[in-house]
Amino acid sequence: MAIRLGCIADDFTGATDLANNLVRAGMRVVQLIDVAPAGTAQPDDADAVVIALKSRTTPAADAVAASLRALEWLRSAGAEQIYFKYCSTFDSTRAGNIGPVTEALMDALGTDFTIATPAFPDNGRTVFKGHLFVGDVLLSESGMRHHPLTPMTDPDLVSVLGAQTARPVGLIDHTVVAAGARAIRERMAELRTQGVGAAIVDAVSNDDLVRLGAAVKELPLVTAGSGLAIGLPANWGFEPSPAAARLPPPGGHQAVVSGSVSTATNGQVQEFLRGGRPAFSVDPLRIAAGDDVAAAALAFAAGHLDHGPVLVYSTEAPDAVKDVQGRLGAAKAGELVERTLARVAQGLVERGVRQLVVAGGETSGAVVQALGLTGLRIGPQIDPGVPWCAAALPGGDPLHITLKSGNFGGPDFFTASFAHLGQASA
Ligand code: ADP
Repeated sequence: MAIRLGCIADDFTGATDLANNLVRAGMRVVQLIDVAPAGTAQPDDADAVVIALKSRTTPAADAVAASLRALEWLRSAGAEQIYFKYCSTFDSTRAGNIGPVTEALMDALGTDFTIATPAFPDNGRTVFKGHLFVGDVLLSESGMRHHPLTPMTDPDLVSVLGAQTARPVGLIDHTVVAAGARAIRERMAELRTQGVGAAIVDAVSNDDLVRLGAAVKELPLVTAGSGLAIGLPANWGFEPSPAAARLPPPGGHQAVVSGSVSTATNGQVQEFLRGGRPAFSVDPLRIAAGDDVAAAALAFAAGHLDHGPVLVYSTEAPDAVKDVQGRLGAAKAGELVERTLARVAQGLVERGVRQLVVAGGETSGAVVQALGLTGLRIGPQIDPGVPWCAAALPGGDPLHITLKSGNFGGPDFFTASFAHLGQASA
């Protein structure tokens, strides 16, 4: 069956966030890790496919090429509308990549008009008079102004996007959005006759996004953060339903692999240890000294897997991480830990783990790659923005996996997630 909505996301965790929103609005969603290799079967029973790229901060030409490859795949899968998804803080520079990718997709789709809105009110991202707010402050006053790769110093998205594209950029402001889908459509038609190629759209509430969703039904391309996803599925008659999030029943052993060093994850590790559960600490200095830490972690895990979840973690408080980074260099320390944890995840799966929690964005990328996963079916949400997923291992065996980036999840995430999976599939 052909898919309805085809999505191109410029990073991995953003892709999951979008997929999760679509599932909650009633679509069955598969997330592909980069473009599926030629010959990969199209997923059965998916209403939307989200292709996760790593194109946010690559050179613009590379981002364009990857996005066009993704577009081709989605069109061959039958996608009726394309959704280019970027960060809700509009992460980009004057060189792109939001503008160049948008233009390339417009050209390839033969369309002269699209919309752009990073608004995601549930996460505190709102757009008013074309200006992006993060919580209560303008984008340019938020932490994003110091971002190492994409410092955002201008909150006026009409000007930010305007600097990235040759097409004129316009604005659909809140008075129009509040007036409803028809008013938005009329304003889009007006901007189009003025030669505007892309319009920033104000949205300060989920109701705004729902009205906007209805208004953009006929556009071949929409560009947005993950917020707009709440307003699109209804265009094909989808309604929120637990059936959209149904996964095959879980089996096998349970394990957690954590390479995140964020505050929330530190709390989750502490909570797991307080519960007296089995946990193995991965020490980057031992890896650097040449010890086979992955083998030691797997030997430890093997003795405990029969009795419930086992945790393997490199998570440490900021001072300890800084100390290690000072001795090994931050990049080297990160790489050693990622490689070790990816081997641990592989070994755990070989030892029968079929329910795996991974903490850390970079760590998740390394684990997904090591396990050879190419696609994830998105299941029920455990905590805001973090769903369980089902994947097929290269041999075809099913694996339930959840990929939690840094600061997500409540304190008991490492145990509650397994209970949640059991309940959701009961
Ligand atoms: P988060 O989502 O919390 O940012 P990531 O996995 O994206 O987590 O990033 C954490 C980075 O820190 C990874 O590169 C990881 O390998 C590295 N790391 C993890 N534990 C340690 C440690 N104890 N010392 C130094 N670096 C570490």
